[in-house]
Amino acid sequence: MRVRFWGVRGALAATEACFQRVGGNTPCVEIRDQDNELLILDAGIGLYWLGRQLLTGPHGRGQGSVTLLFSHSHWDHIQGFPFFVPAFIPGNKVRVFGGGVDRLEDTLEGQMDPTYSPLVSLSNLGANVDIGALEDNPLLEVGQLRITHATFPNGPHQVVGYRIEEADKSVCYICEVDHPNEALRQQVVDLARGCDLLIHESFYTDAEVGAAPGLAGKLGPPPSGHSTFGQATSVALEAGVKRLLYFYHHPDRDDDAIDAAIKEQRARVAALGSALEVDTAREGTEFEI
Ligand SMILES: [Zn+2]
Repeated sequence: MRVRFWGVRGALAATEACFQRVGGNTPCVEIRDQDNELLILDAGIGLYWLGRQLLTGPHGRGQGSVTLLFSHSHWDHIQGFPFFVPAFIPGNKVRVFGGGVDRLEDTLEGQMDPTYSPLVSLSNLGANVDIGALEDNPLLEVGQLRITHATFPNGPHQVVGYRIEEADKSVCYICEVDHPNEALRQQVVDLARGCDLLIHESFYTDAEVGAAPGLAGKLGPPPSGHSTFGQATSVALEAGVKRLLYFYHHPDRDDDAIDAAIKEQRARVAALGSALEVDTAREGTEFEI
């Protein structure tokens, strides 16, 4: 299984130079099985750049297929979908899944409305787009990939976390989730248990929780709907994960600030004598699992 990052930023794209070592596009992750079958997690702005690369292969000839999974439908997770050029090409097959299928379809249709987009309607996309219900598909298969999921409450809405397995390898994707109580935290740990790679949101630092809204503070009042570097590390330690990549970075947090946060987490992991590897997800980097 291969994992490649196309967007690692949370909330809104960050284009200044100080963000470019880690990356400024909103969330999008490409996963390939051993036969090169394609799974995509979330459709932030990074999806546009992934779509451009796909055009050089079967997707550029109308012979490609893709399965796209949404963690949820907040704007930063869907805004790349109307710009996913392979979806315009007849012959391509695009399978889409997310929680609450009626609402997801309504949401994706809504962002094509002429108020927001010249596309007007999903029906104007040239590819065959099929939107399915996770509720009806507790186990999804994409080539050799087997995908299970868990749904977490997140403020007034819900988010879906995914676990992707191929043979004895596993990747877990958790974006976004708050940790308001032990029961919810334990659900996150259970989904991530023993995985080779955990991609976990770390929108805040521990010090920022409880800080006033604004720069290096919360974007809004609690519940934040987000977790911290420290919470992500705690989940990885308890779940016995091999490698943790921090993901969905706050648009105020530049490359140097992310480096500092990682240094702090590495010191904590080392003090515990754990073999857990921690780093940030960076756009353009690829991992062979
Ligand atoms: Zn969200």
